[in-house]
Amino acid sequence: MSLRSIRVGRLAGIPIGIQPLWLVIVALITWSLGAVYYPDEVDGIGAGAAYGLGLLSALLLFASILLHELGHALVARRHGVEIEEIDLWLLGGVARMSSYPATAGAELRFAIAGPAVTLAIALLFALVALALPDSAPRALEAIVAYQLFVNAAILVFNMLPAFPLDGGRVARALIWMRTGDLVGATATAASLGRGLGYGMVGLGVFATLAGAIGGLWFAAIGIFVVAAARAEETGLEVRTAFSGREAGALMSFPAVTIPAAASVEDAIEGYFVRHRYSAFPVTEDERAVGLIDMATVERVPAARRATTSVGEVAIREPSLLIQPSQDVAELIERPAFQRVGRAVVLSRGGLGILSATDVNRALRAWELERRPRMRPRSAR
Ligand SMILES: [Zn+2]
Repeated sequence: MSLRSIRVGRLAGIPIGIQPLWLVIVALITWSLGAVYYPDEVDGIGAGAAYGLGLLSALLLFASILLHELGHALVARRHGVEIEEIDLWLLGGVARMSSYPATAGAELRFAIAGPAVTLAIALLFALVALALPDSAPRALEAIVAYQLFVNAAILVFNMLPAFPLDGGRVARALIWMRTGDLVGATATAASLGRGLGYGMVGLGVFATLAGAIGGLWFAAIGIFVVAAARAEETGLEVRTAFSGREAGALMSFPAVTIPAAASVEDAIEGYFVRHRYSAFPVTEDERAVGLIDMATVERVPAARRATTSVGEVAIREPSLLIQPSQDVAELIERPAFQRVGRAVVLSRGGLGILSATDVNRALRAWELERRPRMRPRSAR
């Protein structure tokens, strides 16, 4: 669901990305501050100056959010969790981790670090606001007041005890600390997140119907919160279900293979039509070089199917040729696997295929087994 972000640089060695939507947000903030806030606050301000201050305020907000995320990232790093990228999106930022904090205590410190930075920023602006003499320019007072307001708002919203907000992480860490069950704690925090998200959607729709157009904004954030809570919960379940499980145990074996020299036409008639599989490993001299699936075959124009070889169009992605001992949790995080949905397993006695369907089936079986223990005190 996330759009590809644009890399804008590095901070403390961590790549910083901006989602295209963030640019829209900066434009919206600039516009609303330039059109309404600054003209209201500063008597006689010209349009150019008002929009200029609007842009400056949006960029200061951007810097505050970046520092917030950097707070998370540096604490995570101290606990041995690498941060792949800091991504600035709709509501703020996300520090994308390559793994999870290993203990509840580490998770708690990680979750608190960002809001602590935001609190410090808000306090700093509060001090500046108090220290400004009466003779200070009105525009400067307005800039400081806006940063104080917006950082305080971020702090309060972020500390709501609902996943994926920081407060939700804090809640999860505290539950995890008490119960020792990370998956159960995540489920609880995520359902709080879903509740909050639906609440925001409801309030937003209500406000919009009552005439406050800003309610739509609120509803959009609510939808995002619901989706993010669900994604986080599923992601963790999947990682938990598959870490330590080997591809060899889940693959379909033996797979029917297609020689690279065969034509696409032969592949359709002799393999896709005859066998019930939707993908086949492709071999050269008995060695797997890739795989071919229906989508690939469909892209070859009918007129060229007799003259095009399977080897020419096969998906030759090295990260999709895996050993039977390959950890499945790691495999399903690979972009190539997420795109193609299959991998070829180089088993000793021949070739196997591990598909996203195999993984899903195993996941559902795992959930069936686990669910009764997952929410022992669930009322429903
Ligand atoms: Zn945060």
